[in-house]
Amino acid sequence: MTSQQIRQQFLDFFQSKQHLIVPSAPIVLKDDPTLMFSNSGMTQFKDYFLGYQEPKSVRIADSQKCLRVSGKHNDLDDVGRDTYHHTMFEMLGNWSFGDYFKEEAIDWAWELLTEVYKIPKENLYVSIFEGDASENLDKDTEAQNFWKKFVTEDRIINGNKKDNFWEMGESGPCGPCSEIHVDLRSEEEKAKISGRDLVNNDHPQVVEVWNLVFMEFNRKADGSLENLPAKHIDTGMGFERLCMALQGKSSNYDTDVFSPLIEKVEQLSGVKYTGILENEKDIAIRVLVDHIRAVSFAIADGQLPSNNGAGYVIRRILRRAISYSYRFLDMKTPFLFELVAVLKNQMGDYFPELSKQEKLITEVIKEEEISFLKTIEYGLIRLDAIIKETQKSGKSVLPGAEVFELYDTFGFPADLSRIIAEEKQLSIDEKGFEEEMLKQKTRSKKDSTSKVQDWVILDEKPQEFVGYDTLETETSINRYRKIENKDGEFFQIVLSKSPFYAEGGGQIGDRGFIENINGEFEILETRRENNLIVSLIKNLPEDPTAVFYAKVNADLRKNTEANHSVTHLLHEALREVLGTHVEQKGSFVGPDYLRFDFSHFSKMSEEELQTIEQMVNKKVKANIALQEFRNIPIKEAMEKGAMALFGEKYGDNVRMIQFGDSRELCGGTHVKSTAEIGHFKILSESSTAAGIRRIEAISGEKSQEYFAGLEVEMKNLNQLLKTKDVEKSVQNLIAENAQLKAEVEQFKKEKAKEEIHIWKTEYITKENFQILVKKTSMDAATVKDLVFQLKKETPKSISIILSDADQKPMISVGVSADLESDYNAGNLVKDLAKEIQGGGGGNAGFATAGGKKLEGLENAFQKALSII
Ligand code: ATP
Ligand code: MG
Repeated sequence: MTSQQIRQQFLDFFQSKQHLIVPSAPIVLKDDPTLMFSNSGMTQFKDYFLGYQEPKSVRIADSQKCLRVSGKHNDLDDVGRDTYHHTMFEMLGNWSFGDYFKEEAIDWAWELLTEVYKIPKENLYVSIFEGDASENLDKDTEAQNFWKKFVTEDRIINGNKKDNFWEMGESGPCGPCSEIHVDLRSEEEKAKISGRDLVNNDHPQVVEVWNLVFMEFNRKADGSLENLPAKHIDTGMGFERLCMALQGKSSNYDTDVFSPLIEKVEQLSGVKYTGILENEKDIAIRVLVDHIRAVSFAIADGQLPSNNGAGYVIRRILRRAISYSYRFLDMKTPFLFELVAVLKNQMGDYFPELSKQEKLITEVIKEEEISFLKTIEYGLIRLDAIIKETQKSGKSVLPGAEVFELYDTFGFPADLSRIIAEEKQLSIDEKGFEEEMLKQKTRSKKDSTSKVQDWVILDEKPQEFVGYDTLETETSINRYRKIENKDGEFFQIVLSKSPFYAEGGGQIGDRGFIENINGEFEILETRRENNLIVSLIKNLPEDPTAVFYAKVNADLRKNTEANHSVTHLLHEALREVLGTHVEQKGSFVGPDYLRFDFSHFSKMSEEELQTIEQMVNKKVKANIALQEFRNIPIKEAMEKGAMALFGEKYGDNVRMIQFGDSRELCGGTHVKSTAEIGHFKILSESSTAAGIRRIEAISGEKSQEYFAGLEVEMKNLNQLLKTKDVEKSVQNLIAENAQLKAEVEQFKKEKAKEEIHIWKTEYITKENFQILVKKTSMDAATVKDLVFQLKKETPKSISIILSDADQKPMISVGVSADLESDYNAGNLVKDLAKEIQGGGGGNAGFATAGGKKLEGLENAFQKALSII
């Protein structure tokens, strides 16, 4: 059975059990401050469990893209070293939201595995939660009894809190769980030792495939557990592990999920994959084919490699793959990008985001490879210097801080430093390295930590956003909590009716205030957290249960709306002019300007930019009315041709914003008609990464200010030049300037000629040489010419010229060729340069030094004379 069929059978099975089949949510999370990536199937349903949102069906099943590389679930160190942990993997899951519970979950899991997939029953073991006294939790005898219907008691294993109590993160929904393990060993192996003893023991052929979680609790910020409003089922089955079991393999990497990728790596690198666990080349190949998936899926969902946050995690994963291939496969040129096409063939049907963006993903990876390989080459040179320095001082341990610096600032992998050091019989001061690492971690932790207390709930009613229709309203506080970050203490509030738009879709959050007779409270920012609009205030009102009047800052909102609407028009124009490969890859919409990032593979020409600007402004002038479809089925919107973004999570019903032919799924706020935009002006076009262009632009008042500014500038120029024809006048000036420059050059040369005549007569003769020390204000180039002439025309001579042209001290020394074996210009200059805090150099015949201390020139002069 192919992996595609295995996935489909899972979905079909749960569809037959009345489950709604939904697509995977994006792998990159946008509005969850506690988590960067989907790390399990339940991430996208968190709000259903917490009761923040109504589920669209009480039974759901899907295959979710997961990434476990940071936070509570981090498998990175195992990846490649074992055969069944990946960074990115698919989790097959079925869910019950307050509907069925333990018994059905267990029944169906057993039915699917043994009757549909036909896994032999004697290969299966299950585990249940044994209870935990410190948490006051009992043993899960309920699950135990349901399992007894299918398996003998010796196949039911008691598990502790670590294995059998599932938690998404430090806080959030959680509950006891029951795992299913499969024993894939040969009969002889099984006869030697029972599978039971190998469960949860890191045996590569006795692995957990499925975890059934019985969600009952919510872990609060203070660590305590509270009951959830209802009981739920959350299951997660590792797709790649299931494929291993069903395809009769002993490693996930031997299934058809990975084998085409491995074949491609073999072909490109010439290294054969042998599947041996400890073999470094095999580990490297597993790392590559694993990491390419994580990186490709993240890019497809809009997360480009970058220097911070989720983008940095992705960049590190990719760099890890590059450094493994560099070290173990001897691949010193970019090649990982060639795997993207293979991955697309393998998975692009079920995950169309891969197929549609193949080119972008490929370009981005290639560019990252090129730049990181450069880093490695550069790092090798630096490391070599550190090694030489260490050897010179007779030591055998490389300083930890320097190796850390190489790693931290240049991104040079520490492992690579280690290996190269070992090759030279050296080691690294690991303790020093660790200390630096710790220091850095505390630094970045300090920057980012914010302590968040639990919500104080005043009213359970769902929140309502009224900001599409009004900027002011009467309201109350539904819940609040205290937070603390590097700027101090604040309160987050959730209003029952919020006119404040929460930052999202690139548009910044509203500001404004809430007030009542007891005072006014400024809204500093408004963000979305999961499904809540959360506004920030400095101080909590004395009576938070009172009624308030909320008011959005209308100026900021108005200007922001103009920029948001014009972003849509820009997007449309770009697709029309450049082509439909243009996809939005990020945007910022604020009151002062807008920024729009999009996929496009070359620099835009001046004409293209002008055309775009004209097209947009034409639409602005046409005063096209906003058509807002606040709540239409996504299917209908897509049929109408609405633009949707990859990596964005859409519900069944969506909001569509239309201005003429521009239709986008969008939650932002907009002008009522395009004339309100005023005028659109592009300020710059640049590149942010391979395959991604960025346009920065302004509209409305800012655009007016911009043109008014230009006009003032122009008027000033007219006045300065005393003409209306600035262009012609400047052309004349340029020509005149060139002419004058040439004349000055000529003049200088003549002057120098005269000077040299006099200087030649001023040499002082010593026993076996003659010497000249002179001060001048001639520029560096002229002095150099002079010195060369002097040393050529004056035998057995030393010429020392000190100059202060442009207020910069400079010393030049020339030694004639017949004296070079006795005197060295470089040494002379070095000595004199100390007086001007300068550095420089040259050779025995000619040397110069520029300095920082102009006053020191006199001392240098005296010193030079003292030689005489
Ligand atoms: P393990 O102990 O093997 O790391 P887990 O307890 O972390 O597994 P869960 O969080 O319960 O796993 O996830 C549910 C299922 O997802 C597991 O039963 C397993 O099949 C699969 N799974 C978990 N982590 C990975 C991973 N890193 N790569 C591939 N599959 C995974
Ligand atoms: Mg795990």
